[in-house]
Amino acid sequence: MKRQGMLIVVSGPSGAGKGTLCNLLLKRDRNLTLSVSVTTRLPREGEKEGVNYFFTSVDDFQRKIRNNEFLEWAIVYNNYYGTPREFVEKQIEDGRDVILEIDIQGAAQVKKNYPEAVFIFILPPDLEELKSRIIKRGSETVDSFNLRMKSAREELKAIFMYDYAVLNDNLESALLKMQYIVCAERCRVSRN
Ligand code: 5GP
Repeated sequence: MKRQGMLIVVSGPSGAGKGTLCNLLLKRDRNLTLSVSVTTRLPREGEKEGVNYFFTSVDDFQRKIRNNEFLEWAIVYNNYYGTPREFVEKQIEDGRDVILEIDIQGAAQVKKNYPEAVFIFILPPDLEELKSRIIKRGSETVDSFNLRMKSAREELKAIFMYDYAVLNDNLESALLKMQYIVCAERCRVSRN
């Protein structure tokens, strides 16, 4: 019998390094696919349509919500973000494991609808480090920076919804931990 793919939810505060970790993990593990989200936020410098996100308008996003095109969606930092349902379900059916890099509201929806998914929370070393990572990225206004810092404090409280917490104080060791988690989950005899 063909094995179904699993959903791997990765969350953590803005600047915790989720994106970098997920991209490296994808390069090391060819059976993993990243779900590219749809968003109404504007592209950052260097971001590409269909690679980082599918960028769209609020009207189009709301139409997609009505058409039930999202596996989960949420408003994060005043913008809409959502996971395309059809793509993810097809990957899982084909036996590929899919990473969803989404916020805690989205993770809560996935937990409700796909309790067998694996939930990983990426922890930044501390809030000062987080601050400097977001500043270094250089794409935030003062208001959006403050909003991201405030949300980071709130998000940290949601950690108990997750199966695993990975401290990203060192990229290589955090990456190894992610690989071990994925490996262990694939070896699991039974799922919830
Ligand atoms: P950013 O604007 O920095 O790319 O992402 C902001 C936040 O939105 C991050 O916490 C990211 O994980 C989250 N996010 C990205 N895509 C999705 C999605 O499809 N659904 C949800 N719920 N959150 C998402």
